[in-house]
Amino acid sequence: MPATTSRRDTRQRRVILELVEHSKAHPTAEEVYRLARKKLPTISLGTVYRNLGLLVEQGSIREVRFDDGVSRFDGHLEQHEHFVCGNCGTVIDLPRALDVKQLTKLASTIGSVTDYKLELTGVCKACGRK
Ligand code: ZN
Ligand code: MN
Repeated sequence: MPATTSRRDTRQRRVILELVEHSKAHPTAEEVYRLARKKLPTISLGTVYRNLGLLVEQGSIREVRFDDGVSRFDGHLEQHEHFVCGNCGTVIDLPRALDVKQLTKLASTIGSVTDYKLELTGVCKACGRK
């Protein structure tokens, strides 16, 4: 973080953090931008990108990417999995249910594990009803 962080910078970052933390939708940068403009009408898309990057670097939010390759932002830092609807793209949180320790142990014969990701794909209830 630069030494001269203005009050405006701080406010912008706080608004962006709160938007991501309170969202369950795993918003993209552009979705965060649209929401942020309701509170900060003069904010630019570039500022939103920069602040999202900083918040990820700080570990305040996480960047997640699914099949469409688009960066999304997740304010839920506890370990969890995701269900992605192949029809509407909705991303829904799931609690971590697998014993990752056992998998990691199995993988240790191949190499050292640094990360783990499980993604369930399907059709969400709302899409299934159509
Ligand atoms: Zn859906
Ligand atoms: Mn999530």
